[in-house]
Amino acid sequence: MGVSSPLSKSPGVNVNEVTAYHEAGHAVMVRLFGRSVHKIDLVLNNAGTYNGYTHWGRDEYFREWDQNIPYDELGLQQRESKDCGTCLSCRQIR
Ligand SMILES: [Zn+2]
Repeated sequence: MGVSSPLSKSPGVNVNEVTAYHEAGHAVMVRLFGRSVHKIDLVLNNAGTYNGYTHWGRDEYFREWDQNIPYDELGLQQRESKDCGTCLSCRQIR
C-alpha cells in the first residue's frame, strides 16, 4: 500500500484545488451515510483564496442507503450520526 501525503504538499496543486477536493470528500462521505448534499459553497476570503462549506442534511430524518455500497466491506455502519466523519478540522468548527 502506498504512503499518503497531504494534497496541499503536492506540486502543482493550489490551495483552491485542495479546498475543492476537501469539500467533494465531504459530499461523498455524506452520501455514504445516507444523507443529502444540498450544496457546496466556495467563498472568497481576505487572502484571495476560497473557504469551502458543504451543506448537507445533518438533521434530516430520512436516510437513503445505497444498496450498491458494500458498507461492511468499507467498515461503515448504517447508524445515526451528526457528522460525516470526514475530517477533524470541520468537526471542531461546527
Ligand atoms: Zn472538512
